[in-house]
Amino acid sequence: MALEPNRRNVLGLVFGTAGLAALTACSNGPTPDGPTTDGGSAAETGSSAAAAATGEVPAPAQSAPRWNLDDPASLTVIVNKHRPLNPMAFEPGDLVSPSIASSSGRTELLRAPAAEDLNRLAGAAKVAGAPFLILSAFRSYDTQVGTYNSWVSSLGRAQADIASARPGFSEHQTGLAVDIGDSGNCNLRGCFAEQPAGQWVKDNCHRFGFVVRYQPGMQQISGYQPEPWHLRYLGIEVASDVVSSGKKTLEEYFGLAAAPDYL
Ligand SMILES: [Zn+2]
Repeated sequence: MALEPNRRNVLGLVFGTAGLAALTACSNGPTPDGPTTDGGSAAETGSSAAAAATGEVPAPAQSAPRWNLDDPASLTVIVNKHRPLNPMAFEPGDLVSPSIASSSGRTELLRAPAAEDLNRLAGAAKVAGAPFLILSAFRSYDTQVGTYNSWVSSLGRAQADIASARPGFSEHQTGLAVDIGDSGNCNLRGCFAEQPAGQWVKDNCHRFGFVVRYQPGMQQISGYQPEPWHLRYLGIEVASDVVSSGKKTLEEYFGLAAAPDYL
């Protein structure tokens, strides 16, 4: 029993240090991380080493029920063609405007933690020579109704389902998804993946809590063709673990069924 307080102190110190390392690695300080400085991995390694040293290894995300995948207000809510938001017209309560220019000049909104980390991601990308703009962030249920219906009337339902999510099924409605672009001609096109911003963000966004949600070759699982511009916020811990796991879809990472099409 006498060991308990000391053990807690050691744990607190170790995890406190790892937390500090993570903060340092992802800050836009005087010596920001360049594209070749993998501060994120160092922080993750530190965290893993700390866990190994104490024997208090947290359960892997895949087998732990601690992630809430269903609550639309959860940072780990999973929305796909099998999993609409519930309620369908959900709207987050903490939407704020990131301090990054949008291509349209409109005020774009994200949930507060996502906006804060997107600001830091954008700052680091700019320093790395890969600046980006916001093309589209939060979209309400009503906005998606209008968008989807206009696609249906011009293309028919089958084609509309390829071009646009049905209302209540869009990750943008969570306030945790953002489409980014640059000043070139590849916005919302596959070639964005080869642009400086597309490349840098793909390699680094997990350090700021984001993943590229729809990756090449994953349509039968994610339901969408590759969208190198569509980033999904999960928080730094989960996003980094998704990348470390090697899983290319959130469906696989969280052990959910593939959702190639609407039911
Ligand atoms: Zn998107």
